Amino acid sequence: MTQIDGQPRVRITGATKKFGDNVVLNNVDLEVRAGEVAVLIGPSGAGKSTLLRCINGLERLTSGTVEIDGVRLEYRERSLNHMREHVGMVFQSFNLFPHLTALENITMAQVVVGKRSKSEAHDRAAKLLFRVGLGEKANSYPSALSGGQQQRVAIARALAMTPKLMLFDEPTSALDPELVGEVLQVMRELADEGMTMVVVTHEMRFARQVADHVVLLADGAIAEEGPPEIVLDAPASDRARSFLSKLQ
Ligand code: ADP
Ligand code: MG
Repeated sequence: MTQIDGQPRVRITGATKKFGDNVVLNNVDLEVRAGEVAVLIGPSGAGKSTLLRCINGLERLTSGTVEIDGVRLEYRERSLNHMREHVGMVFQSFNLFPHLTALENITMAQVVVGKRSKSEAHDRAAKLLFRVGLGEKANSYPSALSGGQQQRVAIARALAMTPKLMLFDEPTSALDPELVGEVLQVMRELADEGMTMVVVTHEMRFARQVADHVVLLADGAIAEEGPPEIVLDAPASDRARSFLSKLQ
């Protein structure tokens, strides 16, 4: 995806989100450039999921703006649909359709939302299954796949829409430890291919190896951000030191 005037792929400005009196995001500014991997870390309840959900319009900001490639997200159906064609999201809980095969899961949105022909969508789905190492599993239902395999199908499904931004919300948190690596590997390959990604994760090794930018969110605000070797190894704030020490 070409970059226009050095504009960031994602620009979040003054993002505030309240649920009733609960201020979940408090004036967050964040930029992610094309091809960059931003890893979002922070304690449970910090607002990480809410921030991701605001980026793709699943939640509406109370105030502030989200721009994708300079286009401001408006909370109208047309704007939301347009944005969702360009932003893929992968959840902790896979969210595959249980009554559809792996291939059908990847085909469906392409036909319904992406308006591709069935055969084109089918072709693309088959290629993506190979890409995530599941070429043999096209006709398997989610119940016959391991958690790691289901999550790789979910990634392939998101990629099928040719997104220019991928959001991952703790994609490996629901997996048995031995299945975490295969999902991180697919994500690492995506990053290497230049995909712009915002990843919420507790996998610090992944953050160290793959992140260009680490953001520590605490109590709805950015406590620390910068390259992984600074944020993870030499954090300036007490808040960051305290959070990181609990991860060891
Ligand atoms: P994290 O992903 O960092 O653990 P979340 O973004 O899920 O944090 O949640 C941050 C805060 O927002 C929590 O206090 C949570 O209870 C609250 N929250 C999240 N979603 C909702 C919602 N739909 N309605 C009310 N409160 C919510
Ligand atoms: Mg969360």
